[in-house]
Amino acid sequence: MSSPYQPVVGLEVHAVLETRSKMFCDCPLVDSTHAEPNVAVCPVCSGMPGMLPVINQAAVEYAVRVALALNCQVHSTSIFARKSYFYPDLPKGFQISQYEQPLATDGWLEFDTAEGEQRVAIRRVHIEEDTGKLTHVEEDGGRYSLVDLNRSGVPLLEIVTEPQLHSVEAVRNCAYALRSILRYVGVNSGNLEKGLLRIEPNISIRPAGSTEFGTRVEVKNLNSFRSLERAVAYELERQGALLEGGGAVVQQTLGWDDARGMTQPQRSKEFAEDYRYFPEPDLPPLVLDPAWVEDVRASLPELPHTRLKRFAGQYGLSGYDAGVLTAEREVADFYEAAVAAAKQADAKLVANWVSGPLFGLLNEAGAELGALPFGPAELAALLDLLAGGAINPAGARLALAELFASGGQPAEIVERLGLQQVSDAGQLQAWAAETLARHPQQVAEYLGGNAPLLNWLFGQALKLSGGKADPAALRAELERQIADAGLQKEQSA
Ligand code: ADP
Ligand code: ZN
Ligand code: MG
Repeated sequence: MSSPYQPVVGLEVHAVLETRSKMFCDCPLVDSTHAEPNVAVCPVCSGMPGMLPVINQAAVEYAVRVALALNCQVHSTSIFARKSYFYPDLPKGFQISQYEQPLATDGWLEFDTAEGEQRVAIRRVHIEEDTGKLTHVEEDGGRYSLVDLNRSGVPLLEIVTEPQLHSVEAVRNCAYALRSILRYVGVNSGNLEKGLLRIEPNISIRPAGSTEFGTRVEVKNLNSFRSLERAVAYELERQGALLEGGGAVVQQTLGWDDARGMTQPQRSKEFAEDYRYFPEPDLPPLVLDPAWVEDVRASLPELPHTRLKRFAGQYGLSGYDAGVLTAEREVADFYEAAVAAAKQADAKLVANWVSGPLFGLLNEAGAELGALPFGPAELAALLDLLAGGAINPAGARLALAELFASGGQPAEIVERLGLQQVSDAGQLQAWAAETLARHPQQVAEYLGGNAPLLNWLFGQALKLSGGKADPAALRAELERQIADAGLQKEQSA
């Protein structure tokens, strides 16, 4: 049954610009999950009176990289503005942000869904500073709030999309595509758990076919992509039931309770929604030299979605495989270097081994590609041995595991571990014959019509060979001997 309502979602995203120092002072950025509270604080970011902010040029460059990667118009002049509100995590009583004249506007982002390629418009991209962090504790019958200003003044990029996402899948894939771009251009690690990337969906529904917007809610507190998906799905469901029951959606900010799997009204920070924005008197307008902006544009890497399409065409990969291999820049680079180094292994084989066995080993070890004791050239050499028939897939897996554990040269590993594939006809005949002799019962059942037993028998034969037999040749030999046995049985019957 198709729903009578269309989902409408827009994203507001905050990404920490992971520069060395803060937005307006030279305090370092520290890992909030490890650092002691208030170790990276100075009079500027703790809001002492009379302190003057100084713009972090690296943060501006990071911001411009993202804005360009999102196909935005980067404005030669943007203005910092004060957003005033009172909250204990904000020592100055205002946050420096950009309001009427943001850094960049009018961009777009492409991503894939099951229905094909989609595009969401980017409304604006602006620079601001982060707030401090409050921790509420209850102790000895008293209640305290602790404030940590390590995060105060950390550079943030706010990215706002138009409300053009119309399914949970579109929301998820758009968010992944955005994360991938942030990582590609090297400004943000994309870590939701640590709050380095915060994705807040605005969600509404409207009768299918309608062009007017329904009332939206905004959901905060999403610490994972899983939560993002669950929260959007939950809200669509909740709003649908409300409207069906004759009720109305109330515009509000909600928090996601992951344990209970539901959204809940959040106590609003800013009950009076009057931020009294005005241009920040302590900072000049941010003026960018167009030539410098063009230099930044020229320095951008090929971006994930473009690279995905190129991979699919150039290497003959499925959209899915190309997506897996291009989601991370390091993976895509590794893959392309391996394909270039391979002499016999083709691009498809390399793709299968990177996204299959290699990813498997990395996941198992919780390791990063950068920490491998071998490079793309060694993977290529290994897959050349496979493609050339010197080893079989089982041998290649063992050799890869050894390479993964200790590095080295694939040819030497194959030699040392005795992984060479055996294609000798006499040897294959012997293994097949031995398999038949050991399992007469299964052979009889197979001949009696239990077809899946052939795979089992083949598995036994391969095992007998220590995994070293040329699998296709062994299978052919096994099938031949079983067919012979069948014939003999018929003749003797
Ligand atoms: P603000 O949060 O400052 O009021 P806007 O209302 O312009 O800003 O939009 C904030 C976000 O909400 C944007 O990502 C936008 O796409 C999204 N949005 C606006 N209207 C709707 C709607 N009716 N349904 C879903 N999302 C919406
Ligand atoms: Zn500081
Ligand atoms: Mg908002």
